[in-house]
Amino acid sequence: MTADAPLVRIPADLLPRDGRFGCGPSKVRPEQVDALSAAGRTLLGTSHRQAPVRALVGRVRAGLRALFDLPADHEVVLGNGGSTMFWDVAAACLVERRAQHATFGEFGAKFAAATTGAPFLLDPDVRTAAPGSVALPVAVEGVDAYAWPHNETSTGAMAPVVRPAGTEGALALVDATSAAGGLAVDVRETDVYYFAPQKSFASDGGLWLALASPAAVERAARLERDRPGADGTPGGRWVPGSLSFTAALTNSRADQTLNTPAIGTLVLLAEQVEWLLDRGGLAWAAARTAASAAHLYGWAESRPWAAPFVADPAHRSTVVGTVDLDPAVPAAAVIATLRAHGVVDVDPYRKLGRNQLRVGMFPAVDPEDVRALTACVDHVVDHL
Ligand SMILES: *Cc1c(COP(=O)(O)O)cnc(C)c1O
Repeated sequence: MTADAPLVRIPADLLPRDGRFGCGPSKVRPEQVDALSAAGRTLLGTSHRQAPVRALVGRVRAGLRALFDLPADHEVVLGNGGSTMFWDVAAACLVERRAQHATFGEFGAKFAAATTGAPFLLDPDVRTAAPGSVALPVAVEGVDAYAWPHNETSTGAMAPVVRPAGTEGALALVDATSAAGGLAVDVRETDVYYFAPQKSFASDGGLWLALASPAAVERAARLERDRPGADGTPGGRWVPGSLSFTAALTNSRADQTLNTPAIGTLVLLAEQVEWLLDRGGLAWAAARTAASAAHLYGWAESRPWAAPFVADPAHRSTVVGTVDLDPAVPAAAVIATLRAHGVVDVDPYRKLGRNQLRVGMFPAVDPEDVRALTACVDHVVDHL
C-alpha cells in the first residue's frame, strides 16, 4: 500500500475472487483473454477483408442473432465508434423530422442533445424524469422516432422495452448499451436495439452494434438518398459516409465494417456471446444478473446506513446497482479502501454527485463476488 493508504485493512478471505465491478469497461473473463491470446497469433495483425476476420464478424453476428432470437427479417449491423457514434448515425439516418426522447440520466440526455443539434431536424420532444426514476415514451403527433434507454447506466434505473401505443409507422430506438446481454428483451418491441460491447458483453470499447428491423432499414435507405432519383423521387439528406447506417448495413451483410475494426474487441465479444449461449442464453444471463441484484438491494435495505437509490423496486437495474450511503459513511473513503485492495470501479457516475456506490453486475460478474463485495463494504464501514 502507498503512504496515504487507507487505514482499514480488509482480510484477504473477504475479498472477491475478481475485484472488477465497473459499469463499462467492465470485467473481462480470464478465459476471454486466453482466447484473445490464442487469436493473437493468427487473427490479430491480419486483414479484416479476408476470410478469417470476416468469419469472426460472422460469429458475432450469428451469435447475437441466436442470443436475441432475432426475427428472420431483422439484421445485425455493426460499425466503429461505440454507442455515442450511433446516436449521430441515428440522428443522421433514422430520425425523419422529429424525435421524442424519454430521458432519466446522462446517456438518454446525450442522445437528445444529438437530435437537438441536428439542423435538419425539428427540436425533439424531451420527456425527463429525475435521476433514480424513469420516463417512458408516449405517442405524440408528428414524432417519427421514439428513443429511450433500456438501462440508464448513470443512475441504475431500468425501463420497460415496450413500443408505445399509437405509434405505428414511427421507429422505436432503444439504447441497450448496458442492458443488452444482461436483461431480457423482446426485440420485436423495437426497431433498433443498439449497444456497445464493453458492458454486458465484457469486451472492449470502440464498436456499435444494432439489431435492426426492416422498417429501420427502409427509413435509412430513404433518408440517405442524397440526390433526386431518375424517376423524379426527391433527394434526401447528405450523410457523411462514416455516419451512414446503410453503408454499415451493406458492410455488415458481408461480415465486414466500413473501416478497420479493433479485432481484439471482436474476439472478446464473440467469446462472451458464445459463453452466454452455452449457458442458456439471455434467460440464463438475466437470471444471473437478477441473482446478483437481489443480493445487493436486499443487503442495502438491511443496513441502516445504506439504501437502494432507485425507489421503485421494478425499476432497480439488475445490471447496474446503485446504493446510496448515509452522509456519515463517506463513499469516497469506502471506494478508496476497496481500490487499495484491488476491488475497483464502484464509484458513482461522476456527474450524479451522490454519496453512492455503483456496482456493475453484468453476466461476467459472479454473484458470489457481489456477496464478497458487500461483505467487504460491511467490514470497511465497521472499521472506518
Ligand atoms: C456507456 C453507454 C453509452 C456510451 O457508450 P460508448 O460506447 O462509450 O459510446 C451510451 N449509452 C449507455 C446507456 C451507456 O451505458
